[in-house]
Amino acid sequence: MLTAGSQVSLSDTLLTDQPASVSAPRTHSAKLWLPQRVVFTPDALDEEFGQQILARVSTQNLEVELLKSNRLTGLRQDDVRATYRTAKNTLAIVKAPAGALRLQPTPPSADWQLNMAEGCPAHCQYCYLAGSLSGPPVVKAFANLPCWPTPPPTSSPAAW
Ligand code: SF4
Repeated sequence: MLTAGSQVSLSDTLLTDQPASVSAPRTHSAKLWLPQRVVFTPDALDEEFGQQILARVSTQNLEVELLKSNRLTGLRQDDVRATYRTAKNTLAIVKAPAGALRLQPTPPSADWQLNMAEGCPAHCQYCYLAGSLSGPPVVKAFANLPCWPTPPPTSSPAAW
């Protein structure tokens, strides 16, 4: 404990020969996120992968809704907080639009991205996603992944 007039040198705090204390290893597993509700669009259920997802969520005792149209409904609530909460706890299985099935540049880096899903179930307070995605921040998984083209091995990403 420091008292008035005490002097602390850098070597007292940072440059010691003592090993830093190590916190105890975590003994519990990471928490698995499960949505409260899973909705399927008709187009997603036409896909083999969509049927596989339906079979899998059916074993998880989750609320499942088969939508009558490809429009996502049931997300808007009385206020924005409730809408946000509902959307973050909903997993929507949809068919990705054709434009989403192409490699897309991620400027300003030289990387490319190929989205297999959209959204995020986490709630980080600093996240810009909730305000930058259009509509309620529902998590979407694409059911038509097996339809993605396999690129020729020698072509550059730009040619896909
Ligand atoms: S920052 Fe946003 S996208 Fe990243 S984990 Fe948090 S909520 Fe998800």
